[in-house]
Amino acid sequence: MVLRTSVPYGRRNRRRRGELHRSPRAAAARILAVWVPAALSAAALGGVAYAAAWPSSRLWGPGFHRLPGGTNDIALTFDDGPASGTPDFLDALDALDVRGTFFVCGRNVVRSPDIARAIVEAGHAIGNHTYSHPKLPICSPLRVRRELVRTQHAISEATGVRPTLFRPPYGLRSPALRGLLPELGLVCVHWTVIGNDWKRDAAEIASRVLRRVRKGAIICLHDGCGTDARCDRSQTLEAVREIVPRLKDRGFRFRPLSAVRGGERNPLAEDPGRPTGRSSRRQ
Ligand SMILES: [Zn+2]
Repeated sequence: MVLRTSVPYGRRNRRRRGELHRSPRAAAARILAVWVPAALSAAALGGVAYAAAWPSSRLWGPGFHRLPGGTNDIALTFDDGPASGTPDFLDALDALDVRGTFFVCGRNVVRSPDIARAIVEAGHAIGNHTYSHPKLPICSPLRVRRELVRTQHAISEATGVRPTLFRPPYGLRSPALRGLLPELGLVCVHWTVIGNDWKRDAAEIASRVLRRVRKGAIICLHDGCGTDARCDRSQTLEAVREIVPRLKDRGFRFRPLSAVRGGERNPLAEDPGRPTGRSSRRQ
């Protein structure tokens, strides 16, 4: 008579039940099979994140995020205009005797060409901030091209100035920018200090900026809200009135940005002065 048991025997079955240790060679193979692809994927993702968002990255096109050291020059920049409140910013900056740089959206320029023109006529630099303020890393290369080209045309048409400065919305770049920026004569500008002014009150914005500004800082604030026509940036405006005199007292000098052609490390910036009308002068 043959006795049958429910417990399987044999090396293979014991391994299934975890009774045998794997050999070092099998363990190494398992590590290679599982962890190496995971590590490579993580490294690739890290590389993409670095190229897309890290301020000093140049992997996806020429750019800069601070001014050359050695002087007390700093730059005040505003994104997302022209908007309903932009004229108030122009008045405040004029009263403070400061020239800044405005990164404008093409759609806003088409809606408010007079305000775009007023920015340039007041002596500020003007830059391209895409047409509709999308997240560029998720846009097709064709969409990225259209966003930048339409905005170049809109700004040129409204102000007579063809920008040489570009700031990606949310600070997020696309690999499509690598060839496109040089082709359009643009240099990418990030920031050294961002005020987080979309979620803070005036005192908090001013405190954050004043704590972080060093020589060569590029300060990023907002005079608009994406491509919204109406936008309350009164907290930012109040912060600007606090920030500028305090930084001047510390010896800093505010300068508008302008790009050095050919992708060289930036930037600065003869004061563009006040234009004498529509022209092809580049900024
Ligand atoms: Zn923006």
